[in-house]
Amino acid sequence: MAELGEPGFRAKQVIDWTFAKRAVSIEAMSNLSKGLRQTLAERYVTRTMTISTVTGSKDTTRKFLLKLHDGRFVETVLIPANPALYGEASDRHTLCVSSQVGCAYDCKFCASGLAGFARNLTAAEIVEQIVQVEAYSGERMDNLVFMGMGEPLANYSHVTKAIEILNSEWGIGIGARHMTVSTSGLAPQIKRLADFPLQIRLAISLHGASDEVRDKIMPVNKKHNLDELFEALAYWRSKRKQHITFEYILIQGVNDGLDQAHRLAKRAKGLDAKVNLIPYNTVEGLQWVRPTEEVQDAFRDVLLNAGVKATLRREKGHDIAAACGQLRLRQETEDGIIESPIPEKRITIGAGA
Ligand code: SAH
Repeated sequence: MAELGEPGFRAKQVIDWTFAKRAVSIEAMSNLSKGLRQTLAERYVTRTMTISTVTGSKDTTRKFLLKLHDGRFVETVLIPANPALYGEASDRHTLCVSSQVGCAYDCKFCASGLAGFARNLTAAEIVEQIVQVEAYSGERMDNLVFMGMGEPLANYSHVTKAIEILNSEWGIGIGARHMTVSTSGLAPQIKRLADFPLQIRLAISLHGASDEVRDKIMPVNKKHNLDELFEALAYWRSKRKQHITFEYILIQGVNDGLDQAHRLAKRAKGLDAKVNLIPYNTVEGLQWVRPTEEVQDAFRDVLLNAGVKATLRREKGHDIAAACGQLRLRQETEDGIIESPIPEKRITIGAGA
């Protein structure tokens, strides 16, 4: 507004239209003069993406395929409140947002990196995922996890800028404690984030409690091994009161041995961290298998017996390929079409995109 020679309060008006009133166009900002609206419309837009396809139903997990302005796609997953099924703690609408188109980190079990990395999302595109889903569902999101496609800490500046907008009173107004950044283990950026002023939560995709195991399935470990990662986590802990969460996928014959459970228990105790065990979700084209329930339980019991807070997570959205590790690029498919195993629940918005 200063650049345009406009008074400062105009900026407040635009912010109010953008966030509080959720104006879908600049034309709709009716307390601005026609001339100013025209000038703004030549330079800016209020929406950059469209909802291409929604999979799932109202009471369960819904996956949104969003078409970006450059024709690429990302996925966002809405996990609704369902205390009856998932306990009091999940009495919230959680949105699992993407931070990049594709992913460069090539974790061997994950679908998101299968087609490689395309580009970072901008802060605006990250924030707009929430705006789009709220408009579509008529629900307010009160919990955000950066656990969609991409490695959020590899897109540090846009992700932290988005978090500031999402957190601010004038923006989306979600409490910092209700936002979780999940990382595959970018140690230097974890330290940087420890100094970020907002009290967001941190989750680490660990998936192996020794370098030997982790090296096999997560190439990032060759760059930042467990010692380096845990040094960064100790720094995080020195700056923050909140507990770190370890995500640990159980993959048959790869990382589900009890030796790993004992090592994991030791590492978790050292940081007073919680552990989320996630039975591996099938990814088309990948050979990994989920261990039996007995193996899952035995692994969890080692943690519990060692006094570690551990949960075996009941995944949502597995049937619509919206669960952890199942989000992937869809550029290879036709506009607005995704292969859904439950097509009868598929809703197509408008004429695609
Ligand atoms: N890149 C970040 C953000 C993605 S979070 C990170 O790695 O943390 C997505 C989560 O799903 C990660 O914990 C990831 O390891 C997990 N995941 C990937 N593939 C999976 C699969 N097939 N089954 C279950 N979880 C998976």
